[in-house]
Amino acid sequence: MTELDLVFRARRVITEYGEVDRCVGVKDGAIVAIEPYDSALEAPEVVELADDEVLLPGLVDTHVHVNEPGRTEWEGFASATAAAALGGVTTIVDMPLNSIPPTIDVAALEVKRKAAETQSHVDVGFWGGAVPGNENELRGLHDAGVFGFKCFLLHSGVDEFAPLPPEDLEGVLEKIAAMGSQLIVHAEDSDAIDRAKTTHGELYATFLASRPRGAENLAIAWLLERARWTGARVHVLHLSSSDALPMLASARRDGVRVTVETCPHYLTFDAEEIPDGGTQFKCCPPIREAENRELLWQGLADGVIDVVVSDHSPCTAELKHLDTGDFGTAWGGIASLQLGLPAVWTEARRRGHTLLDVVRWMAENPARQVGFTTKGHIALGYAADVAVFAPDEAFVVDKTKLHHKNPVSAYDALPLAGVVRSTWLGGEQIDLNQPPRGRLLARGTA
Ligand SMILES: [Zn+2]
Repeated sequence: MTELDLVFRARRVITEYGEVDRCVGVKDGAIVAIEPYDSALEAPEVVELADDEVLLPGLVDTHVHVNEPGRTEWEGFASATAAAALGGVTTIVDMPLNSIPPTIDVAALEVKRKAAETQSHVDVGFWGGAVPGNENELRGLHDAGVFGFKCFLLHSGVDEFAPLPPEDLEGVLEKIAAMGSQLIVHAEDSDAIDRAKTTHGELYATFLASRPRGAENLAIAWLLERARWTGARVHVLHLSSSDALPMLASARRDGVRVTVETCPHYLTFDAEEIPDGGTQFKCCPPIREAENRELLWQGLADGVIDVVVSDHSPCTAELKHLDTGDFGTAWGGIASLQLGLPAVWTEARRRGHTLLDVVRWMAENPARQVGFTTKGHIALGYAADVAVFAPDEAFVVDKTKLHHKNPVSAYDALPLAGVVRSTWLGGEQIDLNQPPRGRLLARGTA
């Protein structure tokens, strides 16, 4: 057999066949051998996992706002990908907005790729944006390798990324279906939000009432029918309203091509516990009631929700207006790239889920959503992107020790289970003191 570069020997390896004890052999960055634990695989580097450690596939986070260039003071590729690596995430896919320019044509994609190229500690792919007037850019972006297109159905939060008018959506879906791409959608209905009470002040209940479940339900229903008519693939981003689960399940039963994600914060926090003035918890759609959270967990258990990804969307501490605690003026977004795995694991195991479930939601399914054929699994021929995880070690989150750019965190002071002890990209341990080795990914290349 050809000489290996690296061997992992672990009592617990998460594979597509379950949790097993194995030796995993790596050559040229790929997994080339998976043998019984006691087999005599040899390599210059042998990593023996401790008895409390589990070898996981590196997580794939398909919902990250890096914000560079343009709003690099909010977040940049160096800090975001450092946070990712420390959180066991080996691949991110960057959202097309909050950076300037937004990724709505090939020239803007090139600007993004240049910014990411030399700074990224993990692999990075890109979504494109679908905005009014860029219909003729979609094909070019697709050919340049974006993984699909994001649109909003209401104001996005930044003026340079406009929402698609309702009457444009069907045409855009037809274009996207013809390319074999997908539309990923921020699904809140603009009219419903406009008619809801506006937010100002520090009461969380007032903020919650300004982003009602009905706005999400309506937008999702509306999107599902257009997906049904056009046959296009759609993906519902950051599902917060559990009311929408039955119609999502129903549409899928009918053959509508829809996938669904939710985020660690919707699975961790609840509206009843969020303190007034706690703008670190502000995100859109909002974190809802405890009863809603439990139904989202049920949606994961039932397989209606496929994917759990961070929606890592940081800003500067000033823009969170923590001093006034005003939900009306604070930026909406939660940064959790480094904490998604322990946050989800902490809540998952309380509800009887295993690491196999967590890996399915956070590695396998997001990898499948974007068409990766070498990521998201520990399997022969796959990239040796892995994390060494100690699921029973606990820690308390300290926002000042997180690696994303600005020390704001909804998770600050929260005790969590599960520590990422090391993360490996293409068979080499990620060392933040070494030059970054992350690659830029185009659709179909990983
Ligand atoms: Zn987002």
